[in-house]
Amino acid sequence: MTRPFLLSLRAGASAVAADAAWSRRRWLWGAGGMGLAGAGLMAVPEVRLFAQQVQDFIAGPPVPDVPAERLSEHVWMVYAKDGFPTPENQGLMANVVFVLTSAGVVVLDSGCSLQIGEMAIRMIRRVTDRPVVAVFNSHYHGDHWLGNHAFVKAYGANLPIYALPHTIEQIRGAEGSLWRSLMERWTNQATLGTQVHAPNRPTEHGQTYQFGDVTLKMHFYGRAHTHSDLCVEVVQDRLTYVADIAMDNRIANLDDGSYVGTFRYYEAIAKAAGEQLWVPGHGRPSKTLLKDYGTFMAGIYEPCLKAVEAGQGVEEAKAAVLKDPRVARRAKQMAGFDSNIGKYVSLAYLEAEKAAF
Ligand SMILES: [Zn+2]
Repeated sequence: MTRPFLLSLRAGASAVAADAAWSRRRWLWGAGGMGLAGAGLMAVPEVRLFAQQVQDFIAGPPVPDVPAERLSEHVWMVYAKDGFPTPENQGLMANVVFVLTSAGVVVLDSGCSLQIGEMAIRMIRRVTDRPVVAVFNSHYHGDHWLGNHAFVKAYGANLPIYALPHTIEQIRGAEGSLWRSLMERWTNQATLGTQVHAPNRPTEHGQTYQFGDVTLKMHFYGRAHTHSDLCVEVVQDRLTYVADIAMDNRIANLDDGSYVGTFRYYEAIAKAAGEQLWVPGHGRPSKTLLKDYGTFMAGIYEPCLKAVEAGQGVEEAKAAVLKDPRVARRAKQMAGFDSNIGKYVSLAYLEAEKAAF
């Protein structure tokens, strides 16, 4: 993300009108952060520190309860019905999945904000009084780990939070604070107060963990949705949490990803894990999730590859994609399709160009 873009985000966010209750908070926020930024004072370290403290002190409102649904013997899910963050949904756009073991609760992706993590903890407490003993973060997109803050607050800084090393690096680096500010902007600051808590335990492909009566197995097969997408198999339940490598009814962000990598990943994990209930980070689980989403992705990639091989441009590739029955069939009901399909065709075309050389 470029610097001017971030600056314009800040200007845009400060121009949004709010109700009376929020006006005062916004005034404080303005005085602590953006107002001073406008005056050029943000360059002074003390002022930056003060702005940060004000931001940490002011918290957005609680997120309404979404009772957890049981998916299998040990696994539950707090379902996010929306695919994208808005002020109305307060950022609730990704599922929070948890595994109820005899040794405590293990959380697979912690939610999109402090407030969503806190709501997930309330929902966990409705089904068990056992503590949360570990968290796994699937990848570095903030809608899957910004909720870590709530779990660290409730269960302590020593709570093990696992992720692949590249994911940890990204969250500790620019991606961490970028996602935090983006989520505030997209939700009109409903996620305010959320702090970045990066995972503190690296994990790797093939690693298994025993939590009481439940075994968790780690899967990773290279670049798919990002450079580091961890999938977690709940062995006894024949269920695998795949996060964003496949989606149910939403077009996935593929800015850091790869079509060919995704196809390879699906093949490898299906071979390794066998038949599973595949649980996505967005949308509903199903046994045919990888097959269904893979068919849709192939409907984008293959016409692009053909166009490249025939020496056609990206516009011709796009026309072929829109006509492809594997895409056309799903276009109407898929969230984000119209606004994103152009970009996904461009990404597929660029990747096909590289593959063809
Ligand atoms: Zn993602």
